[in-house]
Amino acid sequence: MSVSTVAADQSVRAPLPVLGRDVTVPLVTGGEVTYAALDYAASAPALQRVWDDVAAYAPYYGSVHRGAGYLSQLSTDLFENARRTVAEFLGCRADDQVVFTRSTTDSLNLLARALPADCQVFVFETEHHASLLPWQDARVTYLNAPRTPRQAVETLERALAGRTASVQEGYGPALVCVTGASNVTGELWPVRELAAAAHAHGARIVLDAAQLAPHHRVDVRDLDVDWVAFSGHKLYAPFGSGVLAGRADWLRAAEPYLAGGGASRTVTRRPDGGVAVEWHESAARHEAGSPNVIGAYSIASACKALTEAGWENLVAREEHLIAEVRAGLAEVPQVKVLSLFGDDAPRVGVISFVVEGWNSSHFAAALSAEYGIGVRDGLFCAHPLVRTLLGSDPQTQGECGAPEAAPGEKSLNAIRVSFGAGT
Ligand code: PLP
Repeated sequence: MSVSTVAADQSVRAPLPVLGRDVTVPLVTGGEVTYAALDYAASAPALQRVWDDVAAYAPYYGSVHRGAGYLSQLSTDLFENARRTVAEFLGCRADDQVVFTRSTTDSLNLLARALPADCQVFVFETEHHASLLPWQDARVTYLNAPRTPRQAVETLERALAGRTASVQEGYGPALVCVTGASNVTGELWPVRELAAAAHAHGARIVLDAAQLAPHHRVDVRDLDVDWVAFSGHKLYAPFGSGVLAGRADWLRAAEPYLAGGGASRTVTRRPDGGVAVEWHESAARHEAGSPNVIGAYSIASACKALTEAGWENLVAREEHLIAEVRAGLAEVPQVKVLSLFGDDAPRVGVISFVVEGWNSSHFAAALSAEYGIGVRDGLFCAHPLVRTLLGSDPQTQGECGAPEAAPGEKSLNAIRVSFGAGT
């Protein structure tokens, strides 16, 4: 397999230098090798540029918003500029809000807490658990796995058409939650078409861009989605920060995600002995507590770096890598690549596979121990999807990274190799 060759091939590298290129790791067979980080879908290495920006700012950071001192004011400016940079990066509408969160998971949970009363949620069973699970308190319709992008749109249209009838019976608003690129197959979902279907039926749509944003330009207006969620640590920034960006009305009308300082404009004692709170209407409403200023700043730095590197260059580099890795895997007859939409589907650099005769966990461990190649094995927090792709019983129990097939049985988990233009 030529995975390590691909990692070393710099001939069409885009100008996106990441940290950790020179890290060496020990091999069980003796000696050391330069580590091949091929687990970008979990977390991408940080960009050198992001690290440099953070290092340059670190001596000057202060607590934002209410500090009177110079460094507090400087930090407030940088924090609010970071918000503007993210809005620009996503092509937000003028009245959209950009809320800084901890991650995509946090962003989608925030939105789930902001759903209007009686909201009906539509989500494909193929989603990552971060987009599959936050809606449990709403009325959720789980849609079956489609086998083509067209089928995805038709499935959603059918479900929403049923809802239109229900609206006349007095049902409330609706939200569709969909991923832009699968964290298992890397396949792109027909976001624009799904958004059109949602809107045609009076529903709104949130895009889980955790896997899409690091690989392709995500433009809220072009895709016509109502919200976008993504994570800094998958977008070449460090851990701990994420974004929910989009329509302000539901966010403004909702109770704050966290109650506390920063979210509240005024707090007074009530005659009955309680307290009365007036909450902010801006993004601060959902950012209670001292915000992660460095996190927001590093996301903005990554957004600028990606934009400056040029999406065409980034996509070209990644397409080259995808072709190389797929060609390498195709040379091994025992390898079966997992796919929902088929070989020709457009995809990002996320490829999952099983190797006949191998336990996936053992295979991934061997890649690390014997070759210094860091991949991932398991069900990738998308249990229903991976079980469907493996043709195993969707009811099968199993931990994220643990299930093992008995000899001769179908594999219960898979191996995932993932990379990006920084690889
Ligand atoms: N959505 C998708 C498609 C993902 O791949 C992931 C993480 O792998 C998430 C959401 C959750 O991201 P985070 O763990 O940063 O919250």
